[in-house]
Amino acid sequence: MKILVVNAGSSSIKFQLIDTKFDKLMAKGTLYRIGEKLGPENNVTFKANGKIFEDRKEIVGFNEGVKIIIDLLTNKNIGVLKRISEIEAIGHRIVQGAETFKKSTLITPKVIQQIEDLTPLAPLHQPGHIAGIKGFLSNLPNVPMVAVFDTVFHTTMPAYASRYAIPEIAYKKWKIRRYGAHGTSHKYISEQLEKLVGYKGKFIICHIGNGASISAVNKGRCLDTSMGFTPLEGLVMGTRSGDIEPTIITRVMEMTNKSAQEVISWLNKECGLLGVSGVSNDIRDVQKAAQDGNKNAKLAIDMFNYRIKKYIGAYAAALGGVDAIAFTAGTGENRPEVREQALRGLEFMGISIDNAKNENFERGVVQDITGKNSKAKIFIIPTDEEGMIAKETAEIVSKIQK
Ligand code: ADP
Repeated sequence: MKILVVNAGSSSIKFQLIDTKFDKLMAKGTLYRIGEKLGPENNVTFKANGKIFEDRKEIVGFNEGVKIIIDLLTNKNIGVLKRISEIEAIGHRIVQGAETFKKSTLITPKVIQQIEDLTPLAPLHQPGHIAGIKGFLSNLPNVPMVAVFDTVFHTTMPAYASRYAIPEIAYKKWKIRRYGAHGTSHKYISEQLEKLVGYKGKFIICHIGNGASISAVNKGRCLDTSMGFTPLEGLVMGTRSGDIEPTIITRVMEMTNKSAQEVISWLNKECGLLGVSGVSNDIRDVQKAAQDGNKNAKLAIDMFNYRIKKYIGAYAAALGGVDAIAFTAGTGENRPEVREQALRGLEFMGISIDNAKNENFERGVVQDITGKNSKAKIFIIPTDEEGMIAKETAEIVSKIQK
């Protein structure tokens, strides 16, 4: 099945055309500055058949954005699709499904309304998703669309892991609980681990990118995850602080005259690796600065790795043991020193890494980097969120076509 996977943000659309029959990426692209003023740079990128096309185009809204995508996919000179009707379904990545959605869902007018109703829980993401869905709906009204939620995989968390220790009204009325994120990636990696070890075991999955989260999975079900009510909780990230004591917020408000919203934005955008190092949110730059003697950069790296280790220890306890640990996403897949430092000293728990294999890893493929006497298996597994969205979309659409 040819599936268009769409990730629509507040002013952007990222898309991939995937043929699920052959597991083949046919084309991918990004549109930026939708509904915004043009900058000096190209805002349209499209990759297909080994070629890259770039353009600088004013895009007044999502409707127009979708028209550009359709033109690119059916452009005779590029040669991806003969007709747009070859696209059999569209899978939309949706950040927040809360408790409304416990599985990926065919998009209907009611579902669009339900996604919109969740805007207070993800104000930066949900409006872009809705605009994207409506843009495709008006241009391709007959193509079935599926919503794949980042939170679904975490809906299996027991209440003792998903709730905060605050009165029930906060959960029931104010919808405050831990929803988690990166669920599509955690689910994909969990399924890969099942294939690698041969059974549904006790897994710890470290999705370490610019955003980072870790999850504890038992027999294919998520038991706990580090992101919470929003993606701010948990690990130290590129620009997010991760776990902090809540009264820090009022302290910063008093010291800076910032509003609560501004402090939350600061915690999301100016903290983490960037805030501590003062160098960059990209771990490659921070690592380089640390090697060149920058003490704050060294501290940022140490905090980053230590927090991952702390969560691994906590999740091993929560699971009552661990059969396999996986590292994925930009940093998890590509930074051996992060993997090494996060696992260093865990031999007492039966966890050890093969340093030579870890350092001489090959990019972009599954690798077993388990240490000699390790009871738990350790893997690097490239994530594939778009492939997973395409697969779920294809499954749902083939069911309704039967
Ligand atoms: P997100 O999806 O959250 O934006 P990614 O999974 O793309 O994040 O990861 C981005 C981070 O991963 C970058 O900030 C960088 O530090 C790290 N990273 C990405 N690619 C590489 C690479 N090839 N080598 C080393 N680190 C990388």
